[in-house]
Amino acid sequence: VLSIVTEPNAFSGAQLDRAADERKDPAWVAAQREHPAARAVMAGDAGVHVTDGAQPRLALVPLADAPAAHEPLLLGLDAAGPVFAVDVDRNGSVPRPLIGAHGAGEPDPRTGTRPLGLREAVAVLPQADGGLVAYCCALVNWHRRHGHCSVCGTPTGTAAGGLVRECPSCGAHHFPRTDPVVIMLVTGGSDRLLLGRQASWPAGRYSTLAGFVEPGETLEEAVIREVREEASVVVGTPAYVSSQPWPFPASLMLGFSAPWLSGDPVRQEDEIEDVRWFSRAEVAAAASWGDEASAPLLLPPRHAIARTLIETWLAA
Ligand SMILES: [Zn+2]
Repeated sequence: VLSIVTEPNAFSGAQLDRAADERKDPAWVAAQREHPAARAVMAGDAGVHVTDGAQPRLALVPLADAPAAHEPLLLGLDAAGPVFAVDVDRNGSVPRPLIGAHGAGEPDPRTGTRPLGLREAVAVLPQADGGLVAYCCALVNWHRRHGHCSVCGTPTGTAAGGLVRECPSCGAHHFPRTDPVVIMLVTGGSDRLLLGRQASWPAGRYSTLAGFVEPGETLEEAVIREVREEASVVVGTPAYVSSQPWPFPASLMLGFSAPWLSGDPVRQEDEIEDVRWFSRAEVAAAASWGDEASAPLLLPPRHAIARTLIETWLAA
C-alpha cells in the first residue's frame, strides 16, 4: 500500500468557490457578468491563454475585453470576484474540435496573451493555475460537443451559469461529463513494476496500465479487469492512492496500486504494444533522467498521475 503523501497532482488545486447555490439564480449570474472585477480564462483550438514572458501565468483578462465567441461560462468566485471561461473560437465545423492539447499558438494582439497546448501549459503553470485550466477546458470541451439534447435531439441552452444545459423542448437537464478512468501501478513487491506501452508513444516510453470504468462495476473491479485484459495478470485487492482531473477531454484519473498475484505478463490488446516487468533499478535510473529520446526507459511526463504513482513507489 502506498501511503506516502505526495505533491498534489497537476490539473488540480483551483482556488475557486464554484457558487453552487447562487448560480441557480439567472439574475445573480447576469449580475456577475456585469461585475467590474469579472475576469475570463480564455481557451480555444490552440490551447489555453497564458501571459507572455519567461514565467507564464494563466491569463485572467477583464471579461469585457475577452474575445468571447460564445456565452461566457461562470467558473466561480475568487477573492477578487467572478471568474468566467470563454471559448475564443467560433468554429462551426462538426464535430467541433477539442481545446488544443499540444503546441503553442501565435500571441493574440487583442489581449496580449498567447495560447499554449494544455500539456505544455500545465507543465509550466503554478499548481492552482493548472487546476483552473482543467476546470475551464473540461467545461468548454463539454459545451463544444454537447449542444443537442441526448433525449430528443433539440438544440439546448445553458443554465446555472454554464454548469447545466437545458432542453427547451423536453425539459431534460444535462450535466457536464466526467469520465472515470482507473490507472494502476501493478507492484511485484518493492522490487519490480509492471508497465506497458502503446505503439503511438515515443520510443522507450512505458507507463502504468489504465482504462475506462464500465457501467455496473466498482473502481476495484475495473482495476482487476483492466490488468487482466491488458496484461493477462491477476492482481490482488487494489488500494486507492490519489486522483487527477485529466481534461482530454473530460476524464478523472483514479490512481490505485495493486499487488501482483499470478501470471506472466502477456500483451492482450491491440492498443498495447508491450507489457513487461521493470526492476527497481531500471525505474530509479529512468526517474533520474530527463526526457532524453535516447533513454532506454522513458517514464510518463511529470504532470501525469502515472508519473506520481511511480515516483511514490520509488520513494517508499
Ligand atoms: Zn430534449
